[in-house]
Amino acid sequence: MIVLDQPGLTSGYVHFHNSTNKSAWQSVRLPIHCLNGSEGPTTLILGGMHGDEYEGPVAIDALAHAVDTNALVGRLILLPALNLPAVMAGTRLTPDDGLNLNRVFPGDPLGSLTQRIAHWLSETMMPLSDHIVDLHSGGRTLNFASSILVPEASSQVALAKAASMAFGAPFTVLINEDHASMTIDAVAENLGKVIISSELGGAGMVTRHTATLATEGLARMVAALGHLPVKEAPPTSHYVRLPPSDRFLICDDDMIFVPAIDLGDAVREGDILGHGRFIDRVGTKPRAYFAPHDGWVLCIGGQGLSRRGDVIAVVAQDAT
Ligand SMILES: [Zn+2]
Repeated sequence: MIVLDQPGLTSGYVHFHNSTNKSAWQSVRLPIHCLNGSEGPTTLILGGMHGDEYEGPVAIDALAHAVDTNALVGRLILLPALNLPAVMAGTRLTPDDGLNLNRVFPGDPLGSLTQRIAHWLSETMMPLSDHIVDLHSGGRTLNFASSILVPEASSQVALAKAASMAFGAPFTVLINEDHASMTIDAVAENLGKVIISSELGGAGMVTRHTATLATEGLARMVAALGHLPVKEAPPTSHYVRLPPSDRFLICDDDMIFVPAIDLGDAVREGDILGHGRFIDRVGTKPRAYFAPHDGWVLCIGGQGLSRRGDVIAVVAQDAT
C-alpha cells in the first residue's frame, strides 16, 4: 500500500493475498494512484468494479497522467482496476470465487477475495473520502446511452446532481434501485458520503465516443467537485429517472432482439422498440416490444441473443 499524504503523485499497488489451484501464495496487486495538492477534499475514483466495463479504467488512467498536482486542490485517490482479476479476465464477476463485487458490500474481512476487497474499501478508503465516483458501463450484456447516475435517496443529492451534470453525459439519471442495499451506494450513504456512479456504454467494448466522453467528462466532474479550475461549460445533459424494474422490458423467451430505435432516442408510449425473432423454431411470428411510457431509450441488450429474463430495453422518464 502506498502513502496517501505524500505531496504530488504517488503510484503503486494494494496487495491482497489469494490462494488458488494455480497460485498458492498469490499476491493480487491492485493499481492505485494518489494525487495530493493543496488543502481540500478527498475524492475516491473507482473503475473496474466489474471487469468487462472499460470506460472507467480508461478515464481514470488518463486522469492519473494528466493532472498537474501544483494546480490541484485536495486529494484524488484513483483505483482504475478495483476488481483486477475480473478486469484481466474480461469478466463481470471475479473468476476465482464467482462473486459480483458490487453485490457483496460492505464485505467481509474473513471472506473470499471479492468480499475482502469490498471490506477494505468500506472500512479503509471510503471513510477518508468526501466524494466517491464509481464508474461503470453496461458490460457485455447491456448497452447504455452514456449516463451518470445519482441515487435519489442520497442525503447529498443536490451536490451529486451538480457534479453529475458537469460530467456532460447525454443523460443524468436519478436511480432508486431495489438491490441498492448490497452495493457500494449503501455503504456511502451510511457514511454520509456523496456517491456518483455511471453507465458509460457497454456491450463489452469501448468506443472512441465513449472513451472520449468518459475521459473529458471525468475531468469536468473533478473540477466541479472543487479540485481544479472549471474551464468549460459541459454539454447539455437530459435529467431523467430510471423507472422501477417492473417497467423494464424483459425477454420472455430466447430470441434475437432486433431494435427499431437507437440508444438515446426519444420515444412515446406505445412506440415499437424492436422485434424478437424466435430463430430456433418455425411458425412463431416475430413479437413486437413497445415503449411502456414516454421517455428516452436509456439501455438495450448488449448482445444479439436475448434469453428469458434478460433486459431487452429500458426507457428513462423525464425528471425535470
Ligand atoms: Zn458495473
